[in-house]
Amino acid sequence: MARVDLDGNPIRPLTICMIGAGGFIGSHLCEKLMSETPHKVLALDVYNDKIRHLLDPEDLPWNGRIQFHRINIKHDSRLEGLIKMSDLTINLAAICTPADYNTRPLDTIYSNFIDALPVVKYCSENNKRLIHFSTCEVYGKTIGCFLPKDSPLRQDPDYYVLKEDSSPCIFGPIEKQRWSYACAKQLIERLIYAEGAENGLEFTIVRPFNWIGPRMDFIPGIDGPSEGVPRVLACFSNALLRREQLKLVDGGQSQRTFVYIKDAIEAVLLMIENPTRANGHIFNVGNPNNEVTVRQLAEMMTEIYVKVSGEPALEVPTVDISSKEFYGEGYDDSDKRIPDMTIINKQLGWNPKTSLWDLLDSTLTYQHKTYAEAIKKTMTKAFAS
Ligand code: UDP
Repeated sequence: MARVDLDGNPIRPLTICMIGAGGFIGSHLCEKLMSETPHKVLALDVYNDKIRHLLDPEDLPWNGRIQFHRINIKHDSRLEGLIKMSDLTINLAAICTPADYNTRPLDTIYSNFIDALPVVKYCSENNKRLIHFSTCEVYGKTIGCFLPKDSPLRQDPDYYVLKEDSSPCIFGPIEKQRWSYACAKQLIERLIYAEGAENGLEFTIVRPFNWIGPRMDFIPGIDGPSEGVPRVLACFSNALLRREQLKLVDGGQSQRTFVYIKDAIEAVLLMIENPTRANGHIFNVGNPNNEVTVRQLAEMMTEIYVKVSGEPALEVPTVDISSKEFYGEGYDDSDKRIPDMTIINKQLGWNPKTSLWDLLDSTLTYQHKTYAEAIKKTMTKAFAS
């Protein structure tokens, strides 16, 4: 049966130039495109470890539909040619780990703004559609967090739900370099929007709200640097695997909504295959029903990991740590992130399905299967030497 879009029109096979295809989101998107669609992917990245299973052996059923190009978009003259060859460009390339925002602010700004400029320019000049990955961090802090602690308005969704077309972007002062990322992302969003308004660029902007799942970031000392600090899912997984305490930054009071990567990828596929519904829009993609504090996340992950690993939890599973000690000078935090879902619902009929418990269960099962042995080995070695 021919595949059809949301309006019943047949979907024609596309060639997609995916920049940053070797990362967490790219790897899941490539998997989905290979197994469920006829589209071709030109996969651009500096690494391909997370998509190697899709590239070889040569006799995979989608052989030839995915092609890896080892390219750093900072300086490679092949970029424009690859964008020209494609119907659609998806830009996922970026530094997006908070530990880098205040410690490597220049790299953060260059990677999220300067390096994205040629991509936007080539799409605009060659009349190619662009799906650009931004972040929920462009909202910054909620209005509600500036109200007095006991104000009843803090309970009013008008003061905290984040809406694409009406919420302001509220960042901290310049010396809080945490916001270098959000600010760079905001400016590239504005530039893309302006290319749409002035030059007719067909664009879609995606604002992911804490997408999590297998292959996210890295486990320090196993498939990433020992001193590296990934995002919270990998930090907590690492601690659980090593039987160490989970560190709660400034008491773990910040709130997040987590969405399962596989649910979020469904939304991206709808955008890819429904250009008339997706073009010109900015979409929140998250799960407003999966809200927890970071402390609650730690407790839930600890409980699930006991079940997955068969090992009892530590007597005191968490420890508080100041943000200055954990991230260094210049860290600041988003207090709360609840995505408004009206626009994505109306345009694409998308809703997330997976509960926080279920998504942590499958993700921790994956983490345990993938890393437990390797961690045991490095720990025995360290003990013996
Ligand atoms: N966090 C924490 N312990 C960790 C790692 C992160 O308490 O080991 C906190 C961090 O301060 C933030 C939240 O967890 O409040 C989510 O952090 P993440 O790095 O996943 O990214 P963010 O959602 O801030 O973009």
